[in-house]
Amino acid sequence: ASQEHQGKSGGRQHHAVAVSFPTSGHLNPLIRFCKLLVKDHGFAVTFVDVRRASEGSAAPPQAGMLRSPPSHVPQPPVPSFRRVQISSNAMPKACDLSFRSLFETTASLGPELEDVILSINHEDRPVTCLIADFNMIVPAQDVADRLGVPCVVLCTCSASMLLLTHYLSQGDVVCMDSVICAHSSAKDGDDVFCRCLRGLPTLFNKDIPHFRHVEDETRHVWELLIQLWKICDGKAHSIVINTIEGLEDCTCAALTDSSGVPVYDAGFWVDHPCNDISTSPWKEDEGCMPWLEQQPICSVLYISFGSIALLSQKELEAFAEGIISSQQRFLWVLRPDLVKETRYSAKDVVEKSRGRGLVVEWAPQLQVLAHPSVGGFLTHCGWNSTTEAIANGVPMLCWPYFGDQLLNARCIVDEWKVGLAFHAEKKDSSVELKSGEIERAIRSLMEGNEGRTVRENAQKLKEKSSRSFHPDGSSHMKLRSLLERLYTK
Ligand code: UDP
Repeated sequence: ASQEHQGKSGGRQHHAVAVSFPTSGHLNPLIRFCKLLVKDHGFAVTFVDVRRASEGSAAPPQAGMLRSPPSHVPQPPVPSFRRVQISSNAMPKACDLSFRSLFETTASLGPELEDVILSINHEDRPVTCLIADFNMIVPAQDVADRLGVPCVVLCTCSASMLLLTHYLSQGDVVCMDSVICAHSSAKDGDDVFCRCLRGLPTLFNKDIPHFRHVEDETRHVWELLIQLWKICDGKAHSIVINTIEGLEDCTCAALTDSSGVPVYDAGFWVDHPCNDISTSPWKEDEGCMPWLEQQPICSVLYISFGSIALLSQKELEAFAEGIISSQQRFLWVLRPDLVKETRYSAKDVVEKSRGRGLVVEWAPQLQVLAHPSVGGFLTHCGWNSTTEAIANGVPMLCWPYFGDQLLNARCIVDEWKVGLAFHAEKKDSSVELKSGEIERAIRSLMEGNEGRTVRENAQKLKEKSSRSFHPDGSSHMKLRSLLERLYTK
Protein backbone atom coordinates (compact mmCIF):
# COMPACT_ATOMS: atom_id res chain seq x y z
CA ALA A 1 0.00 0.00 0.00
CA SER A 2 0.95 3.52 -0.53
CA GLN A 3 3.14 5.80 1.41
CA GLU A 4 2.99 7.82 -1.80
CA HIS A 5 1.79 11.00 -0.15
CA GLN A 6 4.57 11.15 2.34
CA GLY A 7 6.77 14.04 1.36
CA LYS A 8 4.05 16.21 -0.11
CA SER A 9 4.29 18.39 2.95
CA GLY A 10 7.86 19.58 2.48
CA GLY A 11 9.34 16.11 2.83
CA ARG A 12 7.93 15.75 6.35
CA GLN A 13 5.97 12.88 7.73
CA HIS A 14 2.40 13.89 8.50
CA HIS A 15 1.67 14.05 12.18
CA ALA A 16 -1.99 13.88 13.12
CA VAL A 17 -3.32 14.39 16.62
CA ALA A 18 -6.48 12.36 17.20
CA VAL A 19 -8.94 13.63 19.79
CA SER A 20 -11.22 10.94 21.16
CA PHE A 21 -14.54 10.82 23.02
CA PRO A 22 -14.65 8.48 26.01
CA THR A 23 -16.98 5.60 25.10
CA SER A 24 -16.17 2.33 23.29
CA GLY A 25 -18.45 3.20 20.40
CA HIS A 26 -16.41 6.34 19.74
CA LEU A 27 -12.93 5.08 20.65
CA ASN A 28 -12.96 1.92 18.50
CA PRO A 29 -13.57 3.53 15.10
CA LEU A 30 -11.16 6.42 15.78
CA ILE A 31 -8.35 4.04 16.77
CA ARG A 32 -9.02 1.84 13.72
CA PHE A 33 -9.01 4.87 11.42
CA CYS A 34 -5.74 6.17 12.89
CA LYS A 35 -4.06 2.77 12.57
CA LEU A 36 -5.05 2.72 8.91
CA LEU A 37 -3.42 6.14 8.42
CA VAL A 38 -0.24 4.85 10.06
CA LYS A 39 -0.13 1.54 8.21
CA ASP A 40 -1.21 2.53 4.71
CA HIS A 41 -0.38 6.22 4.49
CA GLY A 42 2.78 6.68 6.50
CA PHE A 43 1.27 8.98 9.11
CA ALA A 44 2.53 9.46 12.63
CA VAL A 45 -0.43 9.67 15.01
CA THR A 46 -0.58 10.91 18.58
CA PHE A 47 -3.81 9.58 20.01
CA VAL A 48 -5.24 11.75 22.78
CA ASP A 49 -7.24 9.35 24.86
CA VAL A 50 -9.80 11.24 26.89
CA ARG A 51 -10.84 9.16 29.90
CA ARG A 52 -12.35 9.28 33.31
CA ALA A 53 -9.55 9.54 35.83
CA SER A 54 -10.15 6.02 37.16
CA GLU A 55 -10.28 4.35 33.73
CA GLY A 56 -7.61 3.20 31.30
CA SER A 57 -4.72 0.84 31.71
CA ALA A 58 -1.76 3.04 30.88
CA ALA A 59 -0.44 5.60 33.33
CA PRO A 60 -1.37 8.99 31.99
CA PRO A 61 1.79 10.74 30.82
CA GLN A 62 1.97 14.34 31.93
CA ALA A 63 2.16 16.80 29.10
CA GLY A 64 5.68 17.76 30.17
CA MET A 65 6.92 14.19 29.96
CA LEU A 66 6.52 14.33 26.24
CA ARG A 67 8.88 17.27 25.74
CA SER A 68 12.14 16.39 24.00
CA PRO A 69 15.11 15.79 26.23
CA PRO A 70 18.21 17.96 25.60
CA SER A 71 19.70 17.29 22.16
CA HIS A 72 22.90 15.62 23.49
CA VAL A 73 20.81 12.83 25.03
CA PRO A 74 20.30 10.02 22.47
CA GLN A 75 16.60 9.78 21.72
CA PRO A 76 14.72 6.59 21.01
CA PRO A 77 12.73 6.78 17.78
CA VAL A 78 9.21 8.10 18.33
CA PRO A 79 6.70 5.37 17.50
CA SER A 80 4.31 6.09 14.62
CA PHE A 81 1.30 5.49 16.85
CA ARG A 82 1.48 6.70 20.40
CA ARG A 83 -1.09 7.39 23.01
CA VAL A 84 -1.32 10.17 25.54
CA GLN A 85 -4.06 10.38 28.09
CA ILE A 86 -6.10 13.28 29.40
CA SER A 87 -8.18 12.31 32.34
CA SER A 88 -10.65 14.20 34.39
CA ASN A 89 -12.25 13.32 37.70
CA ALA A 90 -15.22 15.40 36.74
CA MET A 91 -16.06 13.19 33.80
CA PRO A 92 -19.14 11.05 34.35
CA LYS A 93 -19.41 7.44 33.21
CA ALA A 94 -21.58 7.43 30.10
CA CYS A 95 -23.85 4.75 31.51
CA ASP A 96 -24.17 6.34 34.96
CA LEU A 97 -24.88 9.91 34.26
CA SER A 98 -26.35 12.04 31.62
CA PHE A 99 -24.94 12.40 28.14
CA ARG A 100 -25.36 16.09 28.53
CA SER A 101 -22.84 16.28 31.38
CA LEU A 102 -20.45 14.02 29.47
CA PHE A 103 -20.60 16.41 26.51
CA GLU A 104 -20.17 19.42 28.75
CA THR A 105 -17.14 18.01 30.57
CA THR A 106 -15.37 16.97 27.39
CA ALA A 107 -16.15 20.30 25.69
CA SER A 108 -14.39 22.09 28.55
CA LEU A 109 -11.14 20.14 28.08
CA GLY A 110 -9.77 22.76 25.67
CA PRO A 111 -6.90 24.00 27.92
CA GLU A 112 -5.67 20.45 28.72
CA LEU A 113 -5.87 19.52 25.06
CA GLU A 114 -3.95 22.60 24.04
CA ASP A 115 -1.21 21.87 26.63
CA VAL A 116 -0.76 18.33 25.36
CA ILE A 117 -0.73 19.36 21.72
CA LEU A 118 1.73 22.21 22.25
CA SER A 119 4.05 19.87 24.13
CA ILE A 120 4.22 17.44 21.20
CA ASN A 121 4.33 20.04 18.45
CA HIS A 122 8.09 19.95 17.80
CA GLU A 123 10.10 21.26 14.89
CA ASP A 124 11.20 17.75 14.01
CA ARG A 125 7.66 16.45 14.02
CA PRO A 126 5.17 19.33 13.82
CA VAL A 127 1.49 18.62 14.13
CA THR A 128 0.05 18.81 10.61
CA CYS A 129 -3.63 18.14 11.32
CA LEU A 130 -6.18 17.19 13.96
CA ILE A 131 -8.58 14.29 13.62
CA ALA A 132 -11.45 14.88 16.00
CA ASP A 133 -14.37 12.76 17.05
CA PHE A 134 -17.51 14.72 16.05
CA ASN A 135 -18.42 15.14 19.75
CA MET A 136 -15.00 16.73 20.43
CA ILE A 137 -15.22 19.37 17.70
CA VAL A 138 -15.49 22.27 20.19
CA PRO A 139 -12.06 21.94 21.89
CA ALA A 140 -10.41 20.35 18.82
CA GLN A 141 -11.39 22.99 16.26
CA ASP A 142 -10.33 25.69 18.69
CA VAL A 143 -6.83 24.22 19.06
CA ALA A 144 -6.60 23.53 15.29
CA ASP A 145 -7.40 27.20 14.60
CA ARG A 146 -4.68 28.35 17.01
CA LEU A 147 -2.12 26.09 15.39
CA GLY A 148 -3.33 26.97 11.89
CA VAL A 149 -3.80 23.31 10.93
CA PRO A 150 -6.86 21.61 9.40
CA CYS A 151 -9.29 19.64 11.54
CA VAL A 152 -10.77 16.49 10.00
CA VAL A 153 -13.89 15.31 11.81
CA LEU A 154 -14.71 11.64 12.24
CA CYS A 155 -18.40 10.89 12.43
CA THR A 156 -18.93 7.62 14.29
CA CYS A 157 -22.68 7.55 13.67
CA SER A 158 -24.47 6.89 10.39
CA ALA A 159 -24.80 9.42 7.57
CA SER A 160 -28.58 9.35 8.20
CA MET A 161 -28.13 10.52 11.80
CA LEU A 162 -25.80 13.29 10.66
CA LEU A 163 -28.20 14.38 7.92
CA LEU A 164 -31.14 14.48 10.34
CA THR A 165 -29.02 16.68 12.64
CA HIS A 166 -28.18 18.87 9.67
CA TYR A 167 -31.86 19.28 8.76
CA LEU A 168 -32.64 20.17 12.36
CA SER A 169 -29.85 22.74 12.37
CA GLN A 170 -31.57 24.37 9.37
CA GLY A 171 -34.52 25.00 11.65
CA ASP A 172 -37.21 25.17 9.01
CA VAL A 173 -37.16 21.62 7.65
CA VAL A 174 -37.99 19.56 10.71
CA CYS A 175 -39.50 21.19 13.71
CA MET A 176 -37.51 20.62 16.91
CA ASP A 177 -40.67 20.36 19.01
CA SER A 178 -42.01 17.48 16.98
CA VAL A 179 -38.64 15.71 17.35
CA ILE A 180 -38.85 16.11 21.11
CA CYS A 181 -42.44 14.85 21.20
CA ALA A 182 -42.03 11.94 18.76
CA HIS A 183 -42.08 9.39 21.59
CA SER A 184 -44.66 11.02 23.80
CA SER A 185 -47.68 9.03 24.93
CA ALA A 186 -49.88 11.23 22.74
CA LYS A 187 -48.21 9.89 19.57
CA ASP A 188 -48.43 6.55 17.89
CA GLY A 189 -44.94 5.25 17.12
CA ASP A 190 -46.11 3.78 13.82
CA ASP A 191 -47.44 7.09 12.53
CA VAL A 192 -45.43 8.87 9.87
CA PHE A 193 -43.18 11.51 11.37
CA CYS A 194 -42.03 12.97 8.08
CA ARG A 195 -41.74 12.10 4.43
CA CYS A 196 -39.69 13.58 1.66
CA LEU A 197 -36.65 14.71 3.57
CA ARG A 198 -34.12 14.33 0.78
CA GLY A 199 -31.68 11.51 1.51
CA LEU A 200 -33.72 9.97 4.34
CA PRO A 201 -36.38 7.26 4.24
CA THR A 202 -39.90 8.08 5.36
CA LEU A 203 -39.49 8.30 9.11
CA PHE A 204 -41.99 7.10 11.71
CA ASN A 205 -42.27 8.49 15.24
CA LYS A 206 -40.54 5.41 16.65
CA ASP A 207 -37.46 6.01 14.44
CA ILE A 208 -36.70 9.46 15.79
CA PRO A 209 -33.72 9.47 18.15
CA HIS A 210 -34.48 10.33 21.75
CA PHE A 211 -32.05 10.69 24.64
CA ARG A 212 -33.79 9.50 27.77
CA HIS A 213 -30.80 7.83 29.21
CA VAL A 214 -31.25 8.65 32.82
CA GLU A 215 -33.50 11.64 32.73
CA ASP A 216 -35.27 12.89 29.65
CA GLU A 217 -32.66 15.16 28.20
CA THR A 218 -33.68 14.82 24.58
CA ARG A 219 -33.98 18.54 23.89
CA HIS A 220 -30.60 19.38 25.46
CA VAL A 221 -28.75 16.66 23.59
CA TRP A 222 -30.32 17.61 20.25
CA GLU A 223 -29.43 21.25 20.88
CA LEU A 224 -25.84 20.24 21.64
CA LEU A 225 -25.62 18.07 18.54
CA ILE A 226 -26.92 20.93 16.42
CA GLN A 227 -24.31 23.28 17.89
CA LEU A 228 -21.57 20.75 17.18
CA TRP A 229 -22.83 20.30 13.63
CA LYS A 230 -22.82 24.08 13.05
CA ILE A 231 -19.18 24.36 14.13
CA CYS A 232 -18.30 21.37 12.00
CA ASP A 233 -20.19 22.64 8.97
CA GLY A 234 -18.65 26.08 9.15
CA LYS A 235 -15.06 25.33 10.13
CA ALA A 236 -13.94 21.71 9.75
CA HIS A 237 -11.70 20.70 6.86
CA SER A 238 -13.83 17.64 6.08
CA ILE A 239 -15.96 14.91 7.60
CA VAL A 240 -15.19 11.22 7.35
CA ILE A 241 -18.28 9.13 8.02
CA ASN A 242 -17.87 5.53 9.13
CA THR A 243 -20.08 4.33 6.28
CA ILE A 244 -19.40 2.85 2.87
CA GLU A 245 -20.42 3.42 -0.72
CA GLY A 246 -23.57 1.50 -1.55
CA LEU A 247 -25.06 1.76 1.94
CA GLU A 248 -26.15 5.38 2.36
CA ASP A 249 -25.41 6.89 -1.05
CA CYS A 250 -28.48 9.16 -1.30
CA THR A 251 -27.89 10.34 2.27
CA CYS A 252 -24.24 11.19 1.61
CA ALA A 253 -25.21 12.96 -1.63
CA ALA A 254 -27.80 15.05 0.22
CA LEU A 255 -25.24 15.90 2.91
CA THR A 256 -22.67 16.89 0.29
CA ASP A 257 -25.17 19.10 -1.53
CA SER A 258 -26.67 20.85 1.43
CA SER A 259 -23.79 21.19 3.86
CA GLY A 260 -20.73 23.38 3.63
CA VAL A 261 -18.13 20.75 4.40
CA PRO A 262 -16.80 17.94 2.16
CA VAL A 263 -18.13 14.55 3.24
CA TYR A 264 -16.25 11.29 2.67
CA ASP A 265 -17.95 7.89 3.05
CA ALA A 266 -14.59 6.23 3.55
CA GLY A 267 -15.46 4.01 6.49
CA PHE A 268 -15.69 0.55 8.12
CA TRP A 269 -12.09 -0.13 9.13
CA VAL A 270 -12.89 -3.39 10.82
CA ASP A 271 -9.78 -5.20 9.67
CA HIS A 272 -7.76 -2.99 12.00
CA PRO A 273 -8.75 -4.39 15.40
CA CYS A 274 -7.46 -2.29 18.23
CA ASN A 275 -7.11 -4.74 21.08
CA ASP A 276 -3.75 -3.31 22.11
CA ILE A 277 -5.68 -0.41 23.67
CA SER A 278 -8.51 -1.26 25.98
CA THR A 279 -11.54 0.82 25.04
CA SER A 280 -13.89 -0.32 27.73
CA PRO A 281 -13.68 -0.63 31.52
CA TRP A 282 -14.18 -4.41 31.19
CA LYS A 283 -11.66 -7.01 30.17
CA GLU A 284 -12.34 -8.89 26.96
CA ASP A 285 -13.08 -12.52 27.77
CA GLU A 286 -11.09 -14.48 25.18
CA GLY A 287 -12.42 -17.72 26.67
CA CYS A 288 -15.47 -17.53 24.43
CA MET A 289 -13.40 -18.19 21.30
CA PRO A 290 -12.49 -21.84 22.09
CA TRP A 291 -16.15 -22.34 23.11
CA LEU A 292 -17.30 -20.98 19.72
CA GLU A 293 -14.90 -23.40 18.01
CA GLN A 294 -16.89 -26.29 19.44
CA GLN A 295 -20.27 -25.07 18.15
CA PRO A 296 -21.79 -25.99 14.77
CA ILE A 297 -21.61 -23.48 11.90
CA CYS A 298 -24.14 -20.64 12.07
CA SER A 299 -25.72 -22.04 15.24
CA VAL A 300 -24.90 -19.39 17.86
CA LEU A 301 -26.90 -16.25 18.62
CA TYR A 302 -24.52 -13.52 19.80
CA ILE A 303 -26.23 -11.08 22.19
CA SER A 304 -24.82 -7.70 23.15
CA PHE A 305 -26.33 -4.34 24.00
CA GLY A 306 -23.10 -2.37 23.55
CA SER A 307 -21.31 -0.33 26.17
CA ILE A 308 -23.96 2.14 27.37
CA ALA A 309 -27.48 0.79 26.91
CA LEU A 310 -29.33 -0.22 30.08
CA LEU A 311 -32.03 -2.82 30.58
CA SER A 312 -34.61 -2.81 33.34
CA GLN A 313 -34.67 -5.85 35.62
CA LYS A 314 -37.98 -6.82 33.98
CA GLU A 315 -36.53 -6.61 30.46
CA LEU A 316 -33.49 -8.63 31.45
CA GLU A 317 -35.65 -11.35 32.93
CA ALA A 318 -37.81 -11.43 29.80
CA PHE A 319 -34.68 -11.71 27.63
CA ALA A 320 -33.23 -14.49 29.78
CA GLU A 321 -36.49 -16.44 29.66
CA GLY A 322 -37.02 -15.90 25.92
CA ILE A 323 -33.43 -16.76 25.04
CA ILE A 324 -33.47 -19.96 27.10
CA SER A 325 -36.85 -21.14 25.82
CA SER A 326 -35.80 -20.52 22.20
CA GLN A 327 -33.42 -23.47 22.77
CA GLN A 328 -30.76 -21.85 20.59
CA ARG A 329 -27.07 -21.77 21.42
CA PHE A 330 -26.04 -18.32 22.59
CA LEU A 331 -23.12 -16.16 23.65
CA TRP A 332 -24.40 -13.31 25.81
CA VAL A 333 -22.48 -10.19 26.89
CA LEU A 334 -23.88 -9.29 30.30
CA ARG A 335 -22.01 -6.14 31.30
CA PRO A 336 -21.86 -5.78 35.09
CA ASP A 337 -23.73 -2.47 34.79
CA LEU A 338 -26.29 -3.55 32.17
CA VAL A 339 -29.10 -3.45 34.71
CA LYS A 340 -29.29 -0.48 37.02
CA GLU A 341 -31.33 -1.93 39.84
CA THR A 342 -29.53 -5.19 40.56
CA ARG A 343 -26.75 -7.37 39.33
CA TYR A 344 -28.32 -10.30 37.55
CA SER A 345 -26.73 -13.66 38.11
CA ALA A 346 -25.12 -14.83 34.88
CA LYS A 347 -24.66 -18.23 36.51
CA ASP A 348 -28.44 -18.74 36.63
CA VAL A 349 -28.78 -18.05 32.92
CA VAL A 350 -26.03 -20.50 32.02
CA GLU A 351 -27.38 -23.20 34.30
CA LYS A 352 -30.91 -22.86 32.92
CA SER A 353 -29.58 -23.09 29.36
CA ARG A 354 -28.21 -26.58 30.07
CA GLY A 355 -24.89 -25.95 28.45
CA ARG A 356 -26.26 -24.30 25.30
CA GLY A 357 -25.08 -20.86 26.36
CA LEU A 358 -22.09 -18.90 27.54
CA VAL A 359 -22.17 -15.56 29.37
CA VAL A 360 -19.26 -13.11 29.41
CA GLU A 361 -18.85 -9.59 30.80
CA TRP A 362 -17.26 -8.26 27.61
CA ALA A 363 -16.43 -10.11 24.38
CA PRO A 364 -13.86 -9.60 21.61
CA GLN A 365 -16.81 -8.60 19.43
CA LEU A 366 -15.05 -8.29 16.09
CA GLN A 367 -13.59 -11.78 16.43
CA VAL A 368 -16.92 -13.16 17.60
CA LEU A 369 -18.85 -11.71 14.66
CA ALA A 370 -16.24 -13.03 12.24
CA HIS A 371 -16.53 -16.57 13.65
CA PRO A 372 -18.38 -19.08 11.41
CA SER A 373 -20.34 -20.50 14.38
CA VAL A 374 -22.17 -17.19 14.85
CA GLY A 375 -25.45 -17.18 12.94
CA GLY A 376 -27.27 -14.16 14.35
CA PHE A 377 -26.79 -11.03 16.45
CA LEU A 378 -29.35 -9.75 18.96
CA THR A 379 -28.20 -6.14 19.12
CA HIS A 380 -29.07 -2.70 20.45
CA CYS A 381 -28.13 -1.40 16.96
CA GLY A 382 -25.27 0.91 17.98
CA TRP A 383 -23.64 2.11 14.76
CA ASN A 384 -20.42 0.14 15.34
CA SER A 385 -22.25 -3.07 16.14
CA THR A 386 -24.33 -2.51 13.00
CA THR A 387 -21.33 -1.93 10.73
CA GLU A 388 -19.37 -4.82 12.31
CA ALA A 389 -22.31 -7.17 11.70
CA ILE A 390 -22.68 -5.95 8.09
CA ALA A 391 -18.95 -6.39 7.43
CA ASN A 392 -19.22 -9.99 8.65
CA GLY A 393 -22.54 -10.85 7.01
CA VAL A 394 -24.31 -11.59 10.32
CA PRO A 395 -28.10 -10.95 10.30
CA MET A 396 -29.48 -8.95 13.21
CA LEU A 397 -32.40 -8.96 15.62
CA CYS A 398 -32.96 -5.37 16.66
CA TRP A 399 -33.71 -4.02 20.12
CA PRO A 400 -32.67 -0.36 19.90
CA TYR A 401 -32.41 1.47 23.19
CA PHE A 402 -31.96 5.17 22.49
CA GLY A 403 -30.35 7.86 20.31
CA ASP A 404 -29.35 6.96 16.76
CA GLN A 405 -29.96 3.25 17.48
CA LEU A 406 -33.67 3.80 16.66
CA LEU A 407 -32.82 5.19 13.23
CA ASN A 408 -30.21 2.46 12.64
CA ALA A 409 -32.75 -0.26 13.46
CA ARG A 410 -35.12 1.17 10.87
CA CYS A 411 -32.43 1.04 8.16
CA ILE A 412 -31.34 -2.50 9.18
CA VAL A 413 -34.89 -3.85 8.97
CA ASP A 414 -36.57 -1.86 6.20
CA GLU A 415 -33.85 -0.31 4.03
CA TRP A 416 -31.08 -2.92 3.90
CA LYS A 417 -33.29 -5.84 5.01
CA VAL A 418 -30.52 -7.53 6.95
CA GLY A 419 -32.36 -7.81 10.25
CA LEU A 420 -35.66 -8.46 11.98
CA ALA A 421 -37.56 -6.46 14.59
CA PHE A 422 -39.47 -7.58 17.67
CA HIS A 423 -43.22 -7.03 17.77
CA ALA A 424 -43.41 -5.29 21.10
CA GLU A 425 -46.60 -4.17 22.81
CA LYS A 426 -47.19 -0.46 23.21
CA LYS A 427 -47.65 0.87 26.72
CA ASP A 428 -48.14 4.63 26.94
CA SER A 429 -44.94 6.12 25.56
CA SER A 430 -42.89 2.94 25.99
CA VAL A 431 -43.01 -0.56 24.60
CA GLU A 432 -43.10 -3.82 26.50
CA LEU A 433 -41.34 -6.91 25.27
CA LYS A 434 -42.67 -10.26 26.46
CA SER A 435 -40.52 -13.39 26.74
CA GLY A 436 -42.83 -15.28 24.32
CA GLU A 437 -42.16 -12.70 21.62
CA ILE A 438 -38.42 -12.85 22.32
CA GLU A 439 -38.49 -16.62 21.89
CA ARG A 440 -40.53 -16.34 18.65
CA ALA A 441 -38.26 -13.68 17.14
CA ILE A 442 -35.06 -15.58 18.01
CA ARG A 443 -36.39 -18.78 16.43
CA SER A 444 -37.48 -16.81 13.39
CA LEU A 445 -33.98 -15.32 12.97
CA MET A 446 -32.08 -18.54 13.61
CA GLU A 447 -34.28 -21.12 11.88
CA GLY A 448 -37.27 -19.49 10.15
CA ASN A 449 -37.88 -18.34 6.57
CA GLU A 450 -37.63 -14.67 7.47
CA GLY A 451 -34.26 -15.42 9.06
CA ARG A 452 -33.10 -17.22 5.91
CA THR A 453 -33.97 -14.19 3.77
CA VAL A 454 -32.17 -11.66 5.97
CA ARG A 455 -29.16 -14.03 6.24
CA GLU A 456 -28.90 -14.14 2.43
CA ASN A 457 -29.22 -10.36 2.24
CA ALA A 458 -26.56 -9.98 4.93
CA GLN A 459 -24.18 -12.18 2.92
CA LYS A 460 -24.72 -10.01 -0.18
CA LEU A 461 -24.13 -6.84 1.80
CA LYS A 462 -20.97 -8.35 3.27
CA GLU A 463 -19.63 -9.01 -0.25
CA LYS A 464 -20.44 -5.45 -1.27
CA SER A 465 -18.75 -4.07 1.84
CA SER A 466 -15.66 -6.23 1.41
CA ARG A 467 -15.30 -4.78 -2.10
CA SER A 468 -15.11 -1.30 -0.60
CA PHE A 469 -12.31 -2.28 1.82
CA HIS A 470 -10.30 -3.79 -1.01
CA PRO A 471 -7.16 -1.69 -1.69
CA ASP A 472 -8.81 -0.46 -4.92
CA GLY A 473 -12.25 -0.23 -3.34
CA SER A 474 -14.28 2.89 -2.75
CA SER A 475 -13.35 3.40 0.92
CA HIS A 476 -9.64 3.50 0.12
CA MET A 477 -10.16 5.67 -2.98
CA LYS A 478 -12.19 8.16 -0.99
CA LEU A 479 -9.65 8.25 1.80
CA ARG A 480 -6.93 8.92 -0.77
CA SER A 481 -8.89 11.80 -2.22
CA LEU A 482 -9.44 13.24 1.28
CA LEU A 483 -5.69 13.00 1.92
CA GLU A 484 -4.90 14.69 -1.42
CA ARG A 485 -7.11 17.55 -0.35
CA LEU A 486 -5.47 17.64 3.06
CA TYR A 487 -2.00 17.86 1.56
CA THR A 488 -2.85 20.65 -0.85
CA LYS A 489 -4.62 22.87 1.69
N1 UDP B 1 -17.90 -4.26 21.99
C1 UDP B 1 -16.94 -5.17 22.34
N2 UDP B 1 -17.28 -6.18 23.20
C2 UDP B 1 -18.53 -6.32 23.70
C3 UDP B 1 -19.52 -5.38 23.32
C4 UDP B 1 -19.18 -4.37 22.46
O1 UDP B 1 -15.79 -5.09 21.90
O2 UDP B 1 -18.75 -7.26 24.48
C5 UDP B 1 -17.52 -3.16 21.07
C6 UDP B 1 -18.16 -3.32 19.72
O3 UDP B 1 -17.35 -4.13 18.88
C7 UDP B 1 -18.28 -1.89 19.23
C8 UDP B 1 -18.42 -1.08 20.53
O4 UDP B 1 -18.00 -1.93 21.58
O5 UDP B 1 -17.13 -1.51 18.52
C9 UDP B 1 -19.85 -0.66 20.82
O6 UDP B 1 -20.18 0.36 19.95
P1 UDP B 1 -21.66 0.57 19.41
O7 UDP B 1 -21.64 1.76 18.53
O8 UDP B 1 -22.17 -0.68 18.80
O9 UDP B 1 -22.52 0.80 20.71
P2 UDP B 1 -22.39 1.80 21.97
O10 UDP B 1 -21.58 1.10 22.97
O11 UDP B 1 -21.77 3.08 21.48
O12 UDP B 1 -23.81 1.97 22.39
